[in-house]
Amino acid sequence: MQHVEYMRRHFKNKKRIVVKVGTSTLSYPNGRLNLQRIANLSYVLSALRSRGLDVILVTSGAIGVGAGRLGLLKKPTELAAKQALAAIGQAELIKIYRKFFEEYNQNVAQVLLTKDIVMEEERHRNARNTLLNLLKMGIIPIINENDTISTYEIEFGDNDTLSAVVATLAQADLLILMSDIDGLYSADPKQNPQAEIIRTVSGITPEIEALATGAGTSFGTGGMVTKLTAAKICFKEGIDTILTNGNDPSIIFRILDGEEIGTHFVA
Ligand code: GLU
Repeated sequence: MQHVEYMRRHFKNKKRIVVKVGTSTLSYPNGRLNLQRIANLSYVLSALRSRGLDVILVTSGAIGVGAGRLGLLKKPTELAAKQALAAIGQAELIKIYRKFFEEYNQNVAQVLLTKDIVMEEERHRNARNTLLNLLKMGIIPIINENDTISTYEIEFGDNDTLSAVVATLAQADLLILMSDIDGLYSADPKQNPQAEIIRTVSGITPEIEALATGAGTSFGTGGMVTKLTAAKICFKEGIDTILTNGNDPSIIFRILDGEEIGTHFVA
C-alpha cells in the first residue's frame, strides 16, 4: 500500500461522491462501448453505494456511442446530426448501465440536464431537489447533458463543467474526473519525458492555468482546460477534486483510502 498523502487523510470519510467518465474511458476508438470497463465501473460504484456512500455518475459517450451504433467512422459536425446521434447513443448507454448496475442490485435513474439549471433559479432548485431525492431513495443518478436539445446558448458543452455543477447541486464532498491521462503534468508528457505529474494543486494560479492552455499541452482528448474549470467551480464550493486515469475504475477504492493517485485539487 502506498503512503496516505497528508492532504487526503480525510478521503475515507467522504460521504457523497460524483464520478465523471469521459467518452475515451467508455469506448474504444471505433466508438464501440468498452463493456468490460463499464462493468468494472458499475461494480465499483455499486460497492461504494453498498458501503453507504451516495454516488452520482456523470457519463459522456452519447454522441460517440450513437456514431458507433450506426457504424460511422467520423462524428458529424452538423449540430442536428450530433443531436440525433446523442438520442440514439444515450438510449444505448443507459440500457447498458442499467443492466450492469442491476447485476449488483442497484437502481439507477437517468437525469439529462442543460445549462439552464445554472441560469434559472427555479430549474436550479428543481434539479437539486430531484437529485437529493434520488439519493435519499438510495438510487444512483446517471447524468449526461441533454444533448438532443442543447444548442449553443444553453449547453455546457463539456461534461467536466457539468460534473462540477452537479457536485455543487448535490452538495457532494468529492468529484473524481476520470480521463485518459493520469493527472495534471508539469509539461506535456507526450512531448517531454521530464514531465512530472503534479500530485497536489492548492489553487488555480496563472502558472497552473498556463499548464493547461500552453501550446502543445492539450493533453488527452477531453482537454485540461475544462478539467481546471471544473476544479475551479469545486474550489469555490469547498469540494475536493481528483483528476485521474479512468482505465481501471477500481482505482476509486484506492483514492478513497487516501492513496496518492492522480492530481488532487485541494478544496
Ligand atoms: N454529452 C456528450 C456526450 O455524451 C459529451 C460531452 C463531453 O465529452 O464532455 O456525447
